[in-house]
Amino acid sequence: MQSQVLNVMANSLKPTTLRLHRNVAASLFQRMYSSSTDADIVVIGSGPGGYVAAIKAAQLGLKTVCIEKNPTLGGTCLNVGCIPSKALLNNSHYYHMAHSGDLAKRGIESDNIRLNLDTLMAQKTNSVSALTGGIVQLFKKNKVELIKGHGKITGVNQVTALKEDGSSEVVNTKNILIATGSEVTPFPGIDIDEEQIVSSTGALSLKRVPERLIVIGAGVIGVELGSVWSRLGSEVTAIEFLPSIGGLGIDQEVSKSFQKILAKQGLKFKLGTKVTGASKSGGVVKVSVQDVKDSSKTEDLECEVLLVSVGRRPYTENLGLEEMGIERDQKGRVPVNSVFQTVIPNIYAIGDCIHGPMLAHKAEDEGIICVEGILGGAVHIDYNCVPSVIYTHPEVGWVGKTEEDLKSEGVDYKVGKFPFLANSRAKTNNDTDGFVKVLSDKATDRILGTHIIGSSAGELINEAVLAQEYGASAEDVARVAMLTQPVLKH
Ligand SMILES: Cc1cc2nc3c(=O)[nH]c(=O)nc-3n(C[C@H](O)[C@H](O)[C@H](O)COP(=O)(O)OP(=O)(O)OC[C@H]3O[C@@H](n4cnc5c(N)ncnc54)[C@H](O)[C@@H]3O)c2cc1C
Repeated sequence: MQSQVLNVMANSLKPTTLRLHRNVAASLFQRMYSSSTDADIVVIGSGPGGYVAAIKAAQLGLKTVCIEKNPTLGGTCLNVGCIPSKALLNNSHYYHMAHSGDLAKRGIESDNIRLNLDTLMAQKTNSVSALTGGIVQLFKKNKVELIKGHGKITGVNQVTALKEDGSSEVVNTKNILIATGSEVTPFPGIDIDEEQIVSSTGALSLKRVPERLIVIGAGVIGVELGSVWSRLGSEVTAIEFLPSIGGLGIDQEVSKSFQKILAKQGLKFKLGTKVTGASKSGGVVKVSVQDVKDSSKTEDLECEVLLVSVGRRPYTENLGLEEMGIERDQKGRVPVNSVFQTVIPNIYAIGDCIHGPMLAHKAEDEGIICVEGILGGAVHIDYNCVPSVIYTHPEVGWVGKTEEDLKSEGVDYKVGKFPFLANSRAKTNNDTDGFVKVLSDKATDRILGTHIIGSSAGELINEAVLAQEYGASAEDVARVAMLTQPVLKH
């Protein structure tokens, strides 16, 4: 009841005056509840969604507790996802440039280029430790109370942290935010041992470069990690059920070009192909595959390491959802409304465990706006403006609609395309693979989607995101770009 009063009060604040009043609302919130509760908000999970939400909540004046079951903070992204994979992608790219003779062609000669895998892995581990440790400091600085343990919702206003030593700690709270993220989707019949048959987690820490690596799934994570090991010397074959690479949501023209470029780099692809089983014998893994369209076409492949990379699924194990009457959808996600409330209004959920793209920046954004919404702020996220990036070389970045989307939606559109081959800077850098493709509405010229394959696509896509979020036309961007990047226009 008290929370309803507060929400009504906070919601009645006009957006323009909201920021001024937020601190007042927050302190009132604390005064009303601190005597009867231990916290204003308990965040379960410290991934990009959870830790960002916890810090924002504390900064807005809420007494905040974050419960994390893992020994380190930062979730999938910092420990076994974005950060370690990007460290390996960056450094394997340098190695490959030196080892493949690319640097020599640029006049930088060096003899006896060798890989020190231990040092490469140590650099990755150090980055991860520095960043996860950084969150501990941020929690201290912002007065977020951290409880190590498995968080379980044991009441509408209660979370119990189940600790490793068998003890438990009960936290009474006004609000609960579920940010428990996701886990690797298993492949039926294939057991992951994280040494010979690995998930993305094991593929980030292999102790030696396998002679042959087979990747099941040529989506974003599969091609990123496939690229890493291919650059370090493995013969990599990616097996993909779909007829194209890069996962769902990639523009098909970009996907085709991407596949050609990666094939040129040495990656092999078997598309429209289904894995039917895998078995270990000695140091070799035998992988049986079948053509998706013609099941009589079968083949057995061999490798030293098999990477299973068929996606991620929401993680909500032993969270107390059933007991609370919070049902999951068919994909195991926690259903929430537009302000991230579950069926229980003071229990919220964000990040990989709800709908939308499974991306760190999406989880972070949701974390911030969810907390602001609890204090009466406006809650708005346009999933169509959330960019995706594949950090291979070249990178692939996109935002908004693909040509396939627009065709299926019956939208009349225009295509503007420019190859990096005709771009002065790309030519100067001897890095001409790829192109930029802008899709805009035929009648209004409003940008509907942007797709970039090129060495800095991950950076360049930001301009497209901003343009799309603000409803810019293709001409708007072209005229601004002419002013700011004259050399790119030659
Ligand atoms: C190899 C790889 C590469 C990736 N690269 C990128 C990339 O480049 N860019 C990008 O945007 N995304 C990337 N991602 C995806 C990104 O990691 C996720 O989208 C992001 O981590 C989701 O954040 P989250 O906070 O929702 O969940 P998570 O990061 O999964 O965090 C959830 C946290 O909750 C904890 N937890 C779960 N249940 C409980 C419980 N009951 N009690 C206490 N704690 C609990 C977990 O231990 C975990 O720490 C990558 C993922 C992988 C696997």
